[in-house]
Amino acid sequence: MEHKQPSIRDLHEQLVSGKLTAAALAEQYMSTITARNGDLNAFITVFDDVMEQAAKAQQKIDAGEATVLTGIPLSIKDLFCMQGRRATGGSKILEHYVAPYDATVIAKLNQHVPVYVGKTNTDEFGQGGSTENSAYGVTKNPHDTTRVAGGSSGGAAASVAAGMAAAALASDTGGSIRQPASFCGVVGLKPTYGAVSRYGLMAMASSFDTVGPIGTCVDDVAILFDAIRGVDSMDATTVAGDGPTEAKVIGVPRGFLAQGVDPDVLASFEEGLARLRTAGYEIRDIEIPNIEYALAAYYVLVPAEISANMSRYDGVKFGEKVVGVDLGDTYAQTRGQLLGAEVKRRIMLGTYVLSAGYADQYYRKAWHVRMMIRASLADVFTQVDVIAMPVSPTPAFTIGERAADPLQMYLMDIFTVVANVAGIPALSVPGASVARDGISLPVGFQLLAPHLCEQRLFEVGKKFEKIG
Ligand code: GLN
Repeated sequence: MEHKQPSIRDLHEQLVSGKLTAAALAEQYMSTITARNGDLNAFITVFDDVMEQAAKAQQKIDAGEATVLTGIPLSIKDLFCMQGRRATGGSKILEHYVAPYDATVIAKLNQHVPVYVGKTNTDEFGQGGSTENSAYGVTKNPHDTTRVAGGSSGGAAASVAAGMAAAALASDTGGSIRQPASFCGVVGLKPTYGAVSRYGLMAMASSFDTVGPIGTCVDDVAILFDAIRGVDSMDATTVAGDGPTEAKVIGVPRGFLAQGVDPDVLASFEEGLARLRTAGYEIRDIEIPNIEYALAAYYVLVPAEISANMSRYDGVKFGEKVVGVDLGDTYAQTRGQLLGAEVKRRIMLGTYVLSAGYADQYYRKAWHVRMMIRASLADVFTQVDVIAMPVSPTPAFTIGERAADPLQMYLMDIFTVVANVAGIPALSVPGASVARDGISLPVGFQLLAPHLCEQRLFEVGKKFEKIG
């Protein structure tokens, strides 16, 4: 699995020059899926019309109408609606649900005629950091199958890392693109909140949810971001525009990195900073007031929004139903039997923090903290152009290691939730690997930029990966 994966531009070049047909390319990825997915479990659904899709892509190529994404094999996280295809959300409650329409991001990708290979595994409705909360089994890490691929987009990251898709579409509410990208050694972008439409993405926490790409290199995620971004009348939170690209100064919140980070991960982070210094950036220590409260605020606000969003899974509107003695019992049986433990935990937590008498103490306070962190970041970005942090305090952990202890799992999100709390874009790029039990495990390096400054992240990210 160590051989270098081709980039989207490499594949495009081969497709338009006739060196490779869309069918041959699709067959290549499908045979890797056949060889590896049984073990890795990256896909909940593998499509059976892949060769038909490849034929359509070939027509577009032959007609001289190919874009850079035409015929490129992509995987889609199973939280997105694709018309006429099953969309489980990683949940039993949607086991046989077939989406009646395309998500906006899918409709945008369709114009390029890529080749969709299948729907990838995810923690149930995106809630988790290891895919251990999926009703369809855990996704294993392609670098070490005793370890998790991360989550919630573990299937997406593993599909790209193992060569089962050239790139992937996923979502990030608190780290779900960046953390699995870090664990699997691929690149992941969490865009600015609102830069990409959420229409047709199953909602987790609506004021945190973002849609973004995973790829084998920074250029691939830049290509996909460009294809999916933009204002959408179906999502009133969408925004357009590009902030300035240039970057000179990179800030490091040293105080925030002081506790709880694996020493090997810290060493990998230092090596990453050295790369940036080599590339000519000035590295400066910074302080981000209140950043240490981002995780606590996240785990109050996100369950609150989850508790509201999960109410649609009631056995009546869509999905599976367990019939009870009356309507109330049907709700209780359906939700009780078909939602997983983590989803139920968050519904209860969220309901509690929103309840009369507690909302001021928890929900409103957390919202206030969120606004203070946004303000601190806005202030810091007047002094530095980009902020660097680790992605996760540890490399990929072993399957089962943290599943029994929700708090241990939540603590893994300390460095990723910051971008979602503030709504800013963040990129995870593979940094120096660390050794565990004689196996080399990837570790991501995280770059954060002001709202709508994705191009700046790509610029710094490309320099970072070139030196590595
Ligand atoms: N691990 C985080 C959580 O469980 C993030 C999940 C996500 O980004 N979807 O909330």
